[in-house]
Parts: sequence; C-alpha cells; structure tokens
Amino acid sequence: MSVSSFPCLLQAQSATSPKFDLLLKGAHVIDPKNQIDRVTNVAITNGHIASIDDNISNGEARKVVDLHGLYLIPGMIDIHVHVFPRFVLPSGAPPSEGVQPDSFSFKSGVTTMVDAGSTGWKEFPEFKRRVVNTSKTRILAFLNIVGAGMGTGNDDNVAEMDANAAAQMALANPGLIVGFKSAHYGGPGWTSVDNAVKAGNLAHVPVMVDFGKITPQRNINVLFADKLRPGDIYTHCFSGHREEVLENGQLNPAMVQGRKKGIYFDLGFGAASFYWFVADPAYKAGFYPDSISSDLHMKSMNAGMKDMTNMMSELMALGSSLQDVVKMSTWDPAREIKHSELGNLDVGAEADIAVLRLENGHFGFLDSAGARRYGTGRLVTELTLRKGEVVWDLNGLAAEDWQSFHYRKGPFYSNGAMR
Ligand SMILES: [Zn+2]
Repeated sequence: MSVSSFPCLLQAQSATSPKFDLLLKGAHVIDPKNQIDRVTNVAITNGHIASIDDNISNGEARKVVDLHGLYLIPGMIDIHVHVFPRFVLPSGAPPSEGVQPDSFSFKSGVTTMVDAGSTGWKEFPEFKRRVVNTSKTRILAFLNIVGAGMGTGNDDNVAEMDANAAAQMALANPGLIVGFKSAHYGGPGWTSVDNAVKAGNLAHVPVMVDFGKITPQRNINVLFADKLRPGDIYTHCFSGHREEVLENGQLNPAMVQGRKKGIYFDLGFGAASFYWFVADPAYKAGFYPDSISSDLHMKSMNAGMKDMTNMMSELMALGSSLQDVVKMSTWDPAREIKHSELGNLDVGAEADIAVLRLENGHFGFLDSAGARRYGTGRLVTELTLRKGEVVWDLNGLAAEDWQSFHYRKGPFYSNGAMR
C-alpha cells in the first residue's frame, strides 16, 4: 500500500472580501451527471456549489483546501438503510435493528440516506420528528406498505397493507417519502407487492421490493414481467435467495428481461444479501447493479458490508471502474428516487461532497457469508461536506495546525468546547 503525504491547508491572504467561502483545489473531480472527469477546482459559497473551474486563484476564497491526489465526488446517496431505532417493541419481538444515521453516514462519504421501509404510515410522523428532523444527514424514506412497519411481526399481515392510507401519507410528504417498500413477504399470493404498486400509482412514486420468500408460483419472472413497473426497484439484486443465479451457476435471464423493462437493480448488501457466487456470474454476464446501497442495520454494519466505500471497493474488485461505482452511488440512485437535484455538482446545488483516497495494494473483501475475494484498490473517505460544512475530516485536510490554532482556553464555555 502506498499512502502519499497529506496535502496541507493554505490560508488565503486577501485584502478585499473573497468571492468564495471555500475553495477545494486540485482534486480529480468525478461528476457523472455533468460528465466531469478531470483535475479541477470546486468553489463553495453559502453552502452551495458556486463554481467549478480550472482557473480559480487562492485569493478568491476565504479558505483553500489542497486536494491534489484525491478524488472529489458528489455526496453519496444510500437508498437502502434502516435508521429508525424503535424503542417500544411488541412483546417477544427481536431488538430493533435501526441505527442512528449520523453515526455512519459521513465517515463513508454519504450525505443522503433513504430509510427502506422501517416505518409504515402509522409511525412515519414519529420517524419524521425523531430522525428526519434531528439528523444532519439528509433523510428520505420508502414507506413500508405494512402500516405497522418492519420488525413488528406484521410482514405477512395483509390487513396492515392499506394502499390508500400509505398513499395519503406519501402525498402529505412529497419529496420526503420517495416510494413504497414491499419487504419480507411470505405469501400466499402477491398482496404485499400488489398493494405497494397500487400505493405507488396513487402517489406517483416508485416501489422498492425486498422479495421475501419465493414459491413455484411467486418468483422473480412473474415479479418483473407482470408486477413491477418501469422505474421500480429490485433491491438485494445479488442475494441469490430468489434464483438471481440459476442452479447451473448462470445469471437468471429474468434479470436481463427485468432490466430491459426498465426495472432498477439495487445492491442492498445487508447481512445476508451479497455473495461472490452470485455477483461473479452476474458480472461475467455484464450485469451490474444500477445503485450501490448498504441495507445498513445493526447486523450488517460490522460484517462484510461495512460501509459505502467498502462496497464500492468490492465492486471494483469484481471489475467495475472507479467512475462506474461513483455513478452507482451518486447520480444513478438520485434518479431512482426522482431527486435530480441530488447526486451531482450542479452550480447552485447544495454543496454535498465526498473526497476519496484510492489506495493501491492487496486488500481482502468479504461477502455476506464471510467469504473473501482479493482486490487491488480500496477507497477511503478523507473528507465529507454537507451543505458546505465539513462533517468528516479523516486527516484534518481542512483543519488548521494546532500550533497556529487559536484555542479559546478556559475552564468552561457554553458549548463545552475549547474553540
Ligand atoms: Zn433492508
């Protein structure tokens, strides 16, 4: 592994008032939406992208951060997470698997998380109050078609799958509720998927499906051909639990047909949904995920999945390019959730940014079974900005040296911090 020395902070010296608040200088910028893939400069003012230009001088900005040798990309979007820690559970129910979003997002360059069906319409107001409104990470949601939500023992309870109530909650929260989730349904029949699609039609949003159990009658051939619409999302696409690869080890042609129809295929790595024996033949058949998502929860976070940059590195070990995995974690998920203002570096957009280091060497990557595959590149998040504010800085790239730093020394301050 070779790790070069860290670029240093340069303090701008200018008598006149600088045009920009922050200048991120000299990184290799990859912005798939705007087809930027070169070394250039990104300037930020008032929390928004103000300029992307090869010629911006240090004097034009209040603060300059030198990012030579690093990659600068839009803040990443993880469209499958579980961020609703549930405090009250039905008796006998397992512990809540939801996590606090800010505890995980920024350290891997993620600035937007989409909760994938942790709550249904009944608990969504609590989710909004307790998680959406209190997190620094931008939080959006797929609403579970089960009104009582996930992990409440109601996955198969069709009486809880009220498409009208779910659609009403989505229509009352446009943009925040980006779709509906059908999850873990064991049958019989198709009520979960059918009602999620019905709600999707009422609220004009997509559906994400975690298919649950397959039967000879209920399988992905029927799901893709007869049930899902173009723009709907099949998550856990490399799980292997629903015959994504056939017994002969070949990719199921239904996957290719589904893609032709316009269905999106999302990774949803999770604790039990990404295996090399599925991903490898899929890649060999030229079938790659449309979006990389974590299925972050208590059981996935410390296993093979780890975080967004680890998953990107895993797909690079399979053969994806850096440009591809950046697109799969920025612009493609933005389009899947119909938030085209996200996942790009448009001038005027909120300055959500991730700065990555690509380390070259010999690395091991795990799947959900704990099986290892070697790769030669590992992405590490150096710096994350949310709305222009530094929210993660692994090596202090945007920080000041401690010897010139102006500490406000004293015993107590109102915020308890010495600064
Ligand atoms: Zn999930």
